[in-house]
Amino acid sequence: MQIINTVIELQNKLSVLKEKSLIGFVPTMGALHQGHVSLITRAKEECQYVVCSIFVNPTQFNDPNDLAKYPRPIEQDIEMLRNAHCDFLFLPTVEEIYPNDIKTTLNIKFGKLDKVMEGHFRPGHFDGMAQVVKRLLDIVKPDFLYMGQKDFQQLSIIRSLISQFKLSIKLVMCETIRETDGLAMSSRNTRLDPTLRKSANLIYNTLTWAKEAISKLPISVICDEAMLKLKKQKGFKPEYFDIVDGITLHRIDDIKTHSFVVACVACWVGDVRLIDNVIIKKPENIL
Ligand code: AMP
Repeated sequence: MQIINTVIELQNKLSVLKEKSLIGFVPTMGALHQGHVSLITRAKEECQYVVCSIFVNPTQFNDPNDLAKYPRPIEQDIEMLRNAHCDFLFLPTVEEIYPNDIKTTLNIKFGKLDKVMEGHFRPGHFDGMAQVVKRLLDIVKPDFLYMGQKDFQQLSIIRSLISQFKLSIKLVMCETIRETDGLAMSSRNTRLDPTLRKSANLIYNTLTWAKEAISKLPISVICDEAMLKLKKQKGFKPEYFDIVDGITLHRIDDIKTHSFVVACVACWVGDVRLIDNVIIKKPENIL
C-alpha cells in the first residue's frame, strides 16, 4: 500500500491507472474498525485499485470538543488497511484539502435531506461533510464510491450531491457491520463507559423491535414507544427515533404508500452520541 499525502502525487499516480482500471474510493475519518474494512473488501472485489482516505474533517464538527476527542490511531489504521489489501492511503493535511486558492464550499441545496434528524441536532454538519466528500471526489475521481448504510442520512445526501453535479460515480451502500451483541461498529464505541457499553445494544434491539412492530402498531406509536424504551435506560438520552422514507427522509405515516422505509435513531449513551438505523423495506433497484 502506498501512503500519499499530497493531491498532486495522488492524481499523478491515479491518472496512469485510470485509463485501464476501475478505481474504488472509501473516504473515512480513521480510527478504523471492521465496518470500514468491509467497505475496502467490497471495493477490492469490484475494482482493480482501491483508495482509502483518512481525514478528520474539521468543517463537519459542530462541537470543537468532539473534534478534539476524535481518536487518531494512525499506525493501527495503516496496519488494518495493509491487511485489507488497500492500494492507496490518502492522508492529507487540512491545507491540502482546503487550500486558500480553491473554493471548496458548495452552493447546492439538499432540500429537507440535510435539515431533518442529524441535520436538526447537528446544524452545519452536513455542509461540512458534503464539502469534504465533493473535494475528495474531485481529487480522486473514482468510478465507485463505497459508503456505509450506518450513516444513512450522509449517504442519502451524497446520492443527491452525485446527482446534482451529474458525477459519473456509482454510489454503493454497504451493510452495517455490528458487534456480536448487535451494537453497530463505530469509532466512537471505544469511548463508551464499560458499564454503559453493556447496555448499548438496546439501540439495535429497539430498531429491530420497531421493524417487527410495524405490521401491528401505528408508526407514531412505535416511535413514541421506542423513545420511551431508550429514555428508561440509565445513562441513555435519545434525540430522535424516526421512521422515514428512504429517499426523501420525510417521516411517514403509512408504510404501504412507500417502497423504501428506514427506522433511524440517535441516542446519547453517557457522553457518547451514537446513531444507527435498520431498513424496514427496500426496493430492488436501490444498491
Ligand atoms: P467514518 O470514518 O465514521 O466517517 O466512516 C467512514 C465510512 O465507513 C462511512 O461511509 C461510514 O458509513 C462507514 N461505516 C462506519 N461504520 C460502519 C459500520 N459499522 N459498518 C459499515 N460501514 C460503516
